[in-house]
Amino acid sequence: MSLTEPTQADIEALSKIVGAAHSLTSQADQARYLTEWRGRYTGRTAVVLKPNSTAEVAAILTYCNTKRIGVVPQGGNTGLVGGQIPSESGTEIIVSLERLNRIRSVDAEAGHMVVDAGVTLKAVQNSADDAGRLFPLSVASEGSCQIGGNIATNAGGTGVLAYGSMRSQILGLEAVLADGRIWSNLSALKKDNTGYDIRDLLIGSEGTLAIITAATLRLVAKPVEIATALVALDTLNDVAKLFRLADTRLGASLTAFEFMSARSVDFATQHGPIKLAPFATRPPWTVLLDVSAHEDGRAGQALESALEAATQDGIATAAVLATSTTQAQSLWALRDSISEAQKPEGGSIKHDVSVPIAAQPEFVRQAGQLIERLCPGARPVVFGHFGDGNIHYNVSQPKGADKTAFLARWDEISNAVHKLVLECGGSISAEHGIGQMKRDELARIKSPVDIAIMRAIKTAFDPHGILNPGKVL
Ligand code: FAD
Repeated sequence: MSLTEPTQADIEALSKIVGAAHSLTSQADQARYLTEWRGRYTGRTAVVLKPNSTAEVAAILTYCNTKRIGVVPQGGNTGLVGGQIPSESGTEIIVSLERLNRIRSVDAEAGHMVVDAGVTLKAVQNSADDAGRLFPLSVASEGSCQIGGNIATNAGGTGVLAYGSMRSQILGLEAVLADGRIWSNLSALKKDNTGYDIRDLLIGSEGTLAIITAATLRLVAKPVEIATALVALDTLNDVAKLFRLADTRLGASLTAFEFMSARSVDFATQHGPIKLAPFATRPPWTVLLDVSAHEDGRAGQALESALEAATQDGIATAAVLATSTTQAQSLWALRDSISEAQKPEGGSIKHDVSVPIAAQPEFVRQAGQLIERLCPGARPVVFGHFGDGNIHYNVSQPKGADKTAFLARWDEISNAVHKLVLECGGSISAEHGIGQMKRDELARIKSPVDIAIMRAIKTAFDPHGILNPGKVL
């Protein structure tokens, strides 16, 4: 489907919708919307529009659909697969949702809140907390990413083990379709089996089916106590054993189970805000656990006795139980800084994959051999959400290597890692989505039936292909 580059008259017409102050055309003003966090993707656009209401989003899409101008929805620009960045063609404008940032209502008793798509995840968490409830989605980018972006990517993070991904937190949605019609279903119903679920189609659609403008979010009971511990282990098999033990003994109160390789902790302590190594000697593997309780005192006791059992059984070699909220926050800050801490180590080829829990030790072992064969000296940085099978298998360049030459091998190295992931029964995208990074690979690995259904859905929502062109499909 061919799209056209907006003319000066188009830019003026679109600018009128949002007001000149919220229509960015200069290179300097546009810069931060055109490059993403990893610096891997850049693009070109005639204008960045910042609407202030659902009606303004609808007016923009009506205009662009008629004129066949491409539209890239953008939230907090923290996406890691290039989905929020336009192409270099110049035929796409950016619609930034950052001014749609109102919390419309909070009903603590009924357990839901209605928010604009541009509210940051952190602001949602704070607002739920102020109302005495918990919004359980948690990612390291939560200060910048927006609820609309979280929905469009079906974000995961550290709370998925207990609370599910973003999909599980959504009760209702409001969105603008490609032709400008507003689809509104901000219902707070937990059950609604009236035909095809449009809400579920939009969750994870990465801006290719509609622009999400608001959501009804589910709020859950806030734990009265969260106990946090860091555990040292010798092997990834021991990590798997610890998970089984914790899962059996702690059940639903186990609300996080994150794992980190020695190199991940090394990079985080060298380059992140937490300088102290947690254990006197660096363990090959470290696990960070949270246990939540709704009755005071129970979380600490339960965690302590599980860790005692793990030590007695020879699974854990050491454990540190946080004795204060500040200490727990420091342990989490260590975990959260791993992504950022890879930057000073040069180029990094990232993989957000999921592998069945039982297959994780073998996957990591074989992937290590594969990387050493393909690129001797390259340094795997392995961490992630072990409890839901999600591994961030990142590969930092060999020490002293040329960054550009290393990154030029991204597809070759990624294809090999992803092939192994599939052989282990896993998925090439656990939580970051497809965007432009994995689009061509998706076409190769999905069945023709999958692709045909996805294309039919895309055409039904967006017959002229104006929404986020070149992403996902
Ligand atoms: P953007 O990056 O702006 O956009 C992402 C995609 O959503 C694009 O395709 C865009 O077109 C689309 N989109 C955005 N807003 C809308 C809207 N309103 N309507 C329709 N489409 C829209 N992700 C995880 O899942 N788990 C993690 O643990 C995690 N950790 C991270 C840590 C760091 C340090 C960083 C930088 C990123 C991390 N991410 C993680 C990735 C990222 O934060 C998530 O994908 C997040 O959900 C993106 O939200 P955003 O508002 O920044 O969206």
